[in-house]
Amino acid sequence: MTQRSTDLPPLLALSAPSLTWDETSPHSDAFDDVYFSREDGRAETEHVFLGANHLPERFANWQHHRAFVIGETGFGTGLNMLCAWDCFEQHAQSTARLHLLSTEKFPLDRTSLERALSAWPSLAHYAQVLCAQWPEPVSGIHRLHLSDRVTLDLHFGDTTERLNLLDGQVDAWFLDGFAPAKNPAMWQPELFDAMAARSRPGATFATFTCAGVVKRGLKAAGFSWQKVPGFGRKREMLAGYIDTPPKDTRRQSTPWFMPPTVKPANHVVVIGAGMAGCSVAAALAKRGIKVTVIERDAPGAGGSGNRQGALYVKLAAETNHQSRFYLSGLLYSQRWLSQQAFTSPQETPLWQPCGVVQLALSDKEATRQQRFMARHPLPEAVVSAQSETLSELVGLPITAGHGLFYPQAGWVRPKLLCKHLLQHANITLHHEEVANLQPHDSAWQVELASGETLTADHVVVANASLANRFEQTAALPLQQVRGQVSEMKLPEGVQGPQRVVCAGGYVSPPVEGVLTFGASFMPNNATSDVTTADHQRNIDELRQTLPEWVATLETAGVALSPDTLAGRAAVRAASPDKSPYAGPVPHADAWQQDYVALQKDASNVPDTQGEHHSGLWISTAHGSRGLSSAPLCAEVIASRLCDDPMPLELTLVDHLHPGRRIISALIRAQ
Ligand code: SAM
Repeated sequence: MTQRSTDLPPLLALSAPSLTWDETSPHSDAFDDVYFSREDGRAETEHVFLGANHLPERFANWQHHRAFVIGETGFGTGLNMLCAWDCFEQHAQSTARLHLLSTEKFPLDRTSLERALSAWPSLAHYAQVLCAQWPEPVSGIHRLHLSDRVTLDLHFGDTTERLNLLDGQVDAWFLDGFAPAKNPAMWQPELFDAMAARSRPGATFATFTCAGVVKRGLKAAGFSWQKVPGFGRKREMLAGYIDTPPKDTRRQSTPWFMPPTVKPANHVVVIGAGMAGCSVAAALAKRGIKVTVIERDAPGAGGSGNRQGALYVKLAAETNHQSRFYLSGLLYSQRWLSQQAFTSPQETPLWQPCGVVQLALSDKEATRQQRFMARHPLPEAVVSAQSETLSELVGLPITAGHGLFYPQAGWVRPKLLCKHLLQHANITLHHEEVANLQPHDSAWQVELASGETLTADHVVVANASLANRFEQTAALPLQQVRGQVSEMKLPEGVQGPQRVVCAGGYVSPPVEGVLTFGASFMPNNATSDVTTADHQRNIDELRQTLPEWVATLETAGVALSPDTLAGRAAVRAASPDKSPYAGPVPHADAWQQDYVALQKDASNVPDTQGEHHSGLWISTAHGSRGLSSAPLCAEVIASRLCDDPMPLELTLVDHLHPGRRIISALIRAQ
């Protein structure tokens, strides 16, 4: 098979399909085909996709540490996937996990999805969970946690393109996607090659069609097939398997990024209880793993300890990997936060999806924003607005002529969120400091400052700017960045902004009458005392962001003085390229030796897989944007550690790899 490009296709807003309805049954106008059988769609799904892949039996016998993975071409109304979920609930053991992944180039809008799924009252609960999390129609991977043990990755975009970027392997395929005669563009040899390349040995497939192009394509790609009785009036359909899938060659030119073989995890130690550590702990605990979190202070004591934090990102006008990651992170965090609700409505909400306004205070920034919008119109995720609309949105006069509005973003209570994430039966918190990490007998000895030693199968280092103080992580460059927020009590009756407003820094809607704004950003500064100089900087920033409102406050006698403000300062961590580190820890000495040839000639790539400290992982360098990056990075680590499909495209997984700076340093030294 020829090697495929792993370049990311352009970021797109996908159009919803034009549909004609027969009650609750949609018909695609573009493809002139139905989404499911008008006779009995559910019975058809059970026969064609579940039965022919032997899912009831396979679910009942599934005893692996990893999740059972189903891959589908064409999510449509989700009927197949919801039936698979129901089948799993009925047959699988309580410790088993299911991972569903499905491609879709023309996602239904939420209303159409609800209408189509209303045809199946027995699936109503599943449908409601799906519809509540239905993502924006933005190309890329959207991870949905359907339940504690069932995950759905929606790969929005063209099927073959998406499968070529999938970092994961499938146990059973649902080969759907309209009839080959009606949708010939999808049923190409490249599709079957991509399916084969992303299959586990022995992976099965089932499809409703017996078309020659499908039989030939599957055979050429390495699948064996047979004709089996079809559903209803269809006499025959195809089912089969692949014994020996082709080798994944996509990391041939970047062998350092080849993922290490991972041993099953029973107990994981996570170092650090900020957003990075707490979200990793929660992601692992949900997968049934016992986690010990070690934190020398309290959860959320460092950079994640503020009363309020803004959930927002700044996206580059030209698509780059960093921007693509942060957009995925933002969209993921929004869904993930909506699921982190307390059970009691009386409790303080952990986050407010009030929307975020990003102002352009200079012509340069306005041009950048306009360029971004022209290149990436994503109407459900970010919209462009002028001062009048911005003023209405914020509820205060906005003088900046131009800005962007992220309707589903907002502000979070990071400290409360960290504590909440640790409330899981599988998580134990230790107030301690880790002194040392020692590999021992294919496990890790975690030596604590108190002299106690813990043993773990895996360790995740997530202690922000201190993350490279261990011998094994010392080669990862990290910068310490001081940041201070300011807090001001607003006089009774004074209304603050109704949305988060960002320009240089950010200002959040007041909580309990207190306005939080900031934060200062001081690279190479590891101090955390609250200073009047930083307060003054934050006041200046606030004045530039909301000049008219600040003037009104001052006229009303509110003194904006650094001496009267409360605040909090903390040290955050950043990498030299400002993307987080999330993944396995490279064996730096081995990399320096194995890839030394890159110093002379960057195209001289040795055929050596990257060596890693087995069972050691890192999530850090989240800078001031951890609310957008840490939850998705937690999924990156938990997915790899549990051998689940990854929540990001292979290219973006590699972009986050903690070893990337070792390679770029070697190449730069040319
Ligand atoms: N599995 C679906 C269900 O359970 O409702 C029904 C799938 S419907 C018959 C086919 C789906 O394939 C449509 O949603 C269509 O938009 C999607 N599709 C068609 N061509 C595609 C392509 N090249 N890439 C991704 N999706 C595609």
